[in-house]
Amino acid sequence: MSRFRVAIWTLAAASGVLLGVGLYSQQQVPDHAIGYTDTPVLPGQKWKVHDAARPKPVKVDPGRPSTATDPGKPPSDAIVLFDGKNLDAWQSVRRGQVSPARWKVENGYFESVPRSGDLVTKDRFGDCQLHIEYMHTPGQTKLGQDRGNSGVIFMGRYEIQVLESNEGTTYADGQAGSIYGQFPPLVNPARPPGQWNVYDIVFEAPKFEGTKLVKPAFFTVFMNGVVLHNRQEAIGPMAHRVIRQYSAHAPEEPLLLQDHNEVVRFRNVWLRRLKGYDAQ
Ligand code: MG
Repeated sequence: MSRFRVAIWTLAAASGVLLGVGLYSQQQVPDHAIGYTDTPVLPGQKWKVHDAARPKPVKVDPGRPSTATDPGKPPSDAIVLFDGKNLDAWQSVRRGQVSPARWKVENGYFESVPRSGDLVTKDRFGDCQLHIEYMHTPGQTKLGQDRGNSGVIFMGRYEIQVLESNEGTTYADGQAGSIYGQFPPLVNPARPPGQWNVYDIVFEAPKFEGTKLVKPAFFTVFMNGVVLHNRQEAIGPMAHRVIRQYSAHAPEEPLLLQDHNEVVRFRNVWLRRLKGYDAQ
């Protein structure tokens, strides 16, 4: 074979391999890393649920220390849900079955155990201020909604998403700090894996009279000291690919940390019940 022919064959083979790799890697990117076009339009917004075209929140460097090994102490009136030692305030719930907390405690944090069930507080809460910190371990390889998914789910219904969103990408209303499926965070101040992200969340519980909703839920959310939601009304309970309407529930319900088959670490979890002015 002439040199020319060898060159042609080599080029053809290389193109074939590149094309193959390209197609292969394209097939590997799941829909949930990109978003959807076949979902309903969100009420009051121009975007669809998990809209693939919705702009990704701008990345912001939170510019604060992130390597502290000591998270500090909660306020003196806080209900401490995790102080680095045990999960006594929690239980596991998997498919309706309640058991002692099955997530792992070590080195001052606790870690989700995939498929062990959600972690749910024994106590119930309504309006509250919640502080919780989470971290993903370095070397995350999964894509989209599989990249370290968990969630802080108030009343077992209203979710602020936990996901590795410093390096990972997904639809805007499903990334870390989103009111899942409803609103993306205003910006993206998520720190990289190996560093702690800090949530400070004010949650106003919805109010019902009988079966009628008289006040929706509201979220004010900070991540790493940067505001993500400024008293944003929640459209309804968390839902995937659809819009769910409010349905009446008790004024206080447990706080839930989601088991989404992924490993996520949490620490320094405390909560303060919100009362009105002049309340004792
Ligand atoms: Mg989640």
